[in-house]
Amino acid sequence: MEKEFNIIENYFNKAVKDIPLGIGDDGALIEKDNKNFYILSQDTLNVESHFLHDANPKNLGWKTLAVNVSDILAMGGNPKFALLSISIEKIKKPWLKNFSQGLFDCAKFYGVQLIGGDTSKGSLSFTLTIIGEVKKERALKRNGANSDEDIWITGDLGLASLGLALQNNSISLPSSVAKKSLSALHRPKPIKIDMSKINFLFTCAIDISDGLIPDIQHILKSSQIGANIFCKNLPVPSWIKKNDNYDYALYGGEDYQLILTSAKNNQEKIKKIATKYNLKLSIIGATNKSKVLKLFDVNGKIIKKIKKGFTHFA
Ligand code: ADP
Ligand code: MG
Repeated sequence: MEKEFNIIENYFNKAVKDIPLGIGDDGALIEKDNKNFYILSQDTLNVESHFLHDANPKNLGWKTLAVNVSDILAMGGNPKFALLSISIEKIKKPWLKNFSQGLFDCAKFYGVQLIGGDTSKGSLSFTLTIIGEVKKERALKRNGANSDEDIWITGDLGLASLGLALQNNSISLPSSVAKKSLSALHRPKPIKIDMSKINFLFTCAIDISDGLIPDIQHILKSSQIGANIFCKNLPVPSWIKKNDNYDYALYGGEDYQLILTSAKNNQEKIKKIATKYNLKLSIIGATNKSKVLKLFDVNGKIIKKIKKGFTHFA
């Protein structure tokens, strides 16, 4: 992680003017009108680094958009438009048909319209720029968290990294877990909700792409606070519980779920809204003034060594 963040810091993070938020969050904010911001974000999937040569094109199309939708939700907004840049080695009609199908399935599901892009010859790679919208006062930035707030998580953690381990033949899983894990890896499903129904209840959000722990560290650093996280509260598949192997959920990455923070007196409201919109939301810990992250195992014992998560250029 350090390495890729160093590259951004050293070469690309220059001061910008006249925009509300530039580099350093899940998306940048620019003014749309008096009341709203546009949110802009971009993510790339490269062959070999992010997916195998023979990966299912329908899943690739879905994932190319879904990982970007995730960043818009992480800013508290709703995704609207996308531009797709695709680089392919040669034209294979069935492959393109399936990729397009997966992409538009995802676009329909999250209400996104493809409005532009680029097509070129080269190693298989997909870059998608996404544009979303959020009411100005509702944008959820990484620096918005306060001490003594609950830390919430949407959905389940660890499935995608179990899927990756399975794909790499480094574990074996019962078939039901295997199916769910591979689906989480290849067809990530960020929450589907109109974010205006929930964003006012939270102070901060980030999506989990590198892993729960590395991603929560971004919140702590930006908001200048600390946190206690409890493994016993993590929403994980029963396989992780049974095998007491929480590393998949802590450091695995690619969950594309949201970490959110909220004042403790919002608990009942959040639970009600979660039920109303059929959202899975769990409290996994709380923030504090300490500026340190403390992690507790299932028995409540402190985990002394906190590892790093996924990093490009490791
Ligand atoms: P995320 O995991 O949320 O997609 P990243 O870790 O990819 O975010 O990027 C962190 C921040 O750095 C984001 O604000 C992103 O827009 C910015 N960023 C990444 N690469 C570059 C680059 N080459 N030039 C400018 N900004 C970049
Ligand atoms: Mg993100």
